[in-house]
Amino acid sequence: MKILVAVKRVIDYNVQIRVKEDNSGVVTDNVKMSTNPPDDNAIEEAVKIKEAGKAKEVVAVSVGEEKAQETVRKALAVGADRGILVKVNGVIEPLAVSKILKKIVEKEKPDLVFMGKQAIDDDCNQTGQMLAALLNWPQATFASKIEVKEKTLEVTREVDEGLETIEVNVPAIVTCDLRLNEPRYASLPNIMKAKKKPIEQISAGDLGVDVKSRIEQIKVEEPPKRKAGIKVASVEELVQKLKNEAKVI
Ligand code: AMP
Repeated sequence: MKILVAVKRVIDYNVQIRVKEDNSGVVTDNVKMSTNPPDDNAIEEAVKIKEAGKAKEVVAVSVGEEKAQETVRKALAVGADRGILVKVNGVIEPLAVSKILKKIVEKEKPDLVFMGKQAIDDDCNQTGQMLAALLNWPQATFASKIEVKEKTLEVTREVDEGLETIEVNVPAIVTCDLRLNEPRYASLPNIMKAKKKPIEQISAGDLGVDVKSRIEQIKVEEPPKRKAGIKVASVEELVQKLKNEAKVI
């Protein structure tokens, strides 16, 4: 079995996001970038499945600028066998990413595609679903447990009502939740070894995919500042304020 894992380079989750002065987007210059957090869970799960002897190869793919190579390299350092970087300049939307991933899937013929449930920069939660639709493959989104069976996968999903367990036929798309596992850290020897693993570079143009934006971003603004809270002296005072001032009870 071969597993393809999509990893996106995003602003690190610890960074305090700042909006550009001209409201055209957020500041990315000199800002720490990292792998999108649930994509680390996707890589970890793929590597665990390989370590359990149920997969032969794990391939990490990223779509983005030259620097996204670092994201692919990190996936190689935690156990992926080889990488693919599809080079695109500027911001790329989920529809274009899923069209590119479809081409990669047609070329690589993986049995499974693992992705993150959502990218923390655009918060779209669309790419996996769109890829499943384009390939006409089953999808299991928000996976918090994955069991590989003979020709199927049993996936436990994090849904609003709690947990849902479904069985999907392979090949399938799985989008991973943060609860799926605890991603490992890359050890120094593995970081060194990863430098020798191959990363194939392709341009989106070579794949014949039109990456033009379909969404026009009009303005990016800071959320309104929250007012300072107050301390109440007793539960009675809290209840009275909730009733008479906030009028929520
Ligand atoms: P989104 O639909 O933007 O919330 O992204 C969901 C998932 O799709 C991410 O967690 C990644 O696994 C994958 N993905 C989105 N954009 C990219 C990209 N540019 N390169 C690689 N994977 C991506």
